[in-house]
Amino acid sequence: MVTFTTTVSRKTPLDGRLEIPASLADRLLSSGEPVSVSVQGIDEGANVEAMACTCDKAGGNHEHHFLRADALKVLPPNSSVTLLVDLEEGRIEIDSTP
Ligand SMILES: [Zn+2]
Repeated sequence: MVTFTTTVSRKTPLDGRLEIPASLADRLLSSGEPVSVSVQGIDEGANVEAMACTCDKAGGNHEHHFLRADALKVLPPNSSVTLLVDLEEGRIEIDSTP
C-alpha cells in the first residue's frame, strides 16, 4: 500500500483529472491491472493519463500525469486529499475528509 497526499486542482470538478506523480503513474501502468478509484464510497474505473506540457513548473517540455474518472469531479477544489493506493489490485481509495 502506498499513500500520498495531494491538493485538488480547481479544474478537477470540470475535467475529473487529479494530478499524480510520474512515479505512481508508471507503477500503475506497469502493473497491467485495470485501475479503479473509490471516492466517497463510489467505485469507478479510472484512466491514467500523461499530458505533454510546457508550463514553467519544470522548465521546457515535460509531462504531467493524471488519474481521470468522473467520480473525481466531486472532490472540492483546493482541498487536500489522501490517496491510498493498492498497486497489486490497481485500486485507489481517495480520502477527502478534512
Ligand atoms: Zn507543466
